[in-house]
Amino acid sequence: MNYRLAGMLLWAFSTVASARDVHVDVDRLAQKSVPDVVHWRRDFHEHPELSNHEDRTSAVVAAHLHALGFDEVRTGLSKTGVIGILRGGRPGKVVALRADMDALPVTETTGLPFASKVRSTYQGHDVGVMHACGHDSHTAMLMGVASVLAGIRKDLPGTVMLIFQPAEEGAEDRSRPWGAEGMLNEGAFDAPKPDAVFGMHVMPNQAGLLGWHKGGATASSDTLHVKVNGVQTHGAMPWMGKDPVTVAGEIVVALQTIPSRQMNVSQAPTIVSIGSIHGGVRNNVIPNEVVMDGTIRVLDPTQREDFLNRITRLIHMTAEASGLEADVDIDRGYGVTVNDPGLVDAMLPSLKRVSATEEMPATLASEDFSYFAAKVPGFFFTLGVNPNGTDPRNAPANHSPNFTVNEDAMVIGVRAMASVAVDYLSTH
Ligand SMILES: [Zn+2]
Ligand SMILES: [Zn+2]
Repeated sequence: MNYRLAGMLLWAFSTVASARDVHVDVDRLAQKSVPDVVHWRRDFHEHPELSNHEDRTSAVVAAHLHALGFDEVRTGLSKTGVIGILRGGRPGKVVALRADMDALPVTETTGLPFASKVRSTYQGHDVGVMHACGHDSHTAMLMGVASVLAGIRKDLPGTVMLIFQPAEEGAEDRSRPWGAEGMLNEGAFDAPKPDAVFGMHVMPNQAGLLGWHKGGATASSDTLHVKVNGVQTHGAMPWMGKDPVTVAGEIVVALQTIPSRQMNVSQAPTIVSIGSIHGGVRNNVIPNEVVMDGTIRVLDPTQREDFLNRITRLIHMTAEASGLEADVDIDRGYGVTVNDPGLVDAMLPSLKRVSATEEMPATLASEDFSYFAAKVPGFFFTLGVNPNGTDPRNAPANHSPNFTVNEDAMVIGVRAMASVAVDYLSTH
């Protein structure tokens, strides 16, 4: 036998053997973390904090990372964000894993023993506070991943960055960047700069099912503000003024022809929805103005500017057609989360090793993980957390006051996140 070939075979065998050993350790340590992960998740669930107020949560996270001996624990990023850096025993790439920590202004109705009774003030209203999007489980699972990776750090060929971010659901004060964008502006990815970033979101799917999608996975989300300027007059004599109500109605309907008649629907779906419309106070007074707010969603980032331009043009010209003027203001929100196709292909075997996987359709919901994935190749996947035996059609969706996380699925989440990190570092 050729010695070089024998050497290569030995090398190949030892690589496979060590990769297998690492997976055994990952799975064993993940299983060992379960009581802690469940405890943390219930603790966060009972003590939810609204966006940008995650002080208690981030303190629990930081204390855990310190206790595990992370090389760096940075706190206070974009208010309450935490970044933990764990350097492995061997040199290599840098991989980032992200969890979000914030809760929602939702009053919980699950009846769980650890259900939230917390109340707070949101936009001047007294509200219940609930982890209705499952971010309690995201934070707890990533803390479990921290335990797993710290347990195998000497075998890690590279560096792991754990990102615990605030305000994914959006800040109450929108005057400056928040959440992922805020953390990046404050240098989250400056040093070390990750080579790839992974995120995971719980969804009302079969427990343990890992969902994935290549390319645009979550939509951009821009907010549309419209003011149709009329001239107030008597409802019986509309010709004496300029009626913004009929023009607003035309705009609402005409907007729907942009996605269906102007945008290439075979490329990707686009959505514009008016969710709020206000004008006038009385049946026989044509008001001076009508104001409308809406949301604009795009799944292919290359369509975003074009779509926004067409919306703006249509509103201006529909008003002009009746001799009125309209003001259009668009607030840019989260971008499209693009799952890097090469990274998805490379990491799917890791997910398949851990659990059942399924290719999922993209969603027109939005996620600020998009900011991280716009900086470096990213992959955002989903974890099914339905209660055992539930018909998926009847499971409460994220943001429902009855949304629940099946804790049995959390070990899958810990294994999945730890595995993509370990496998990425071992193969890149
Ligand atoms: Zn949410
Ligand atoms: Zn969420």
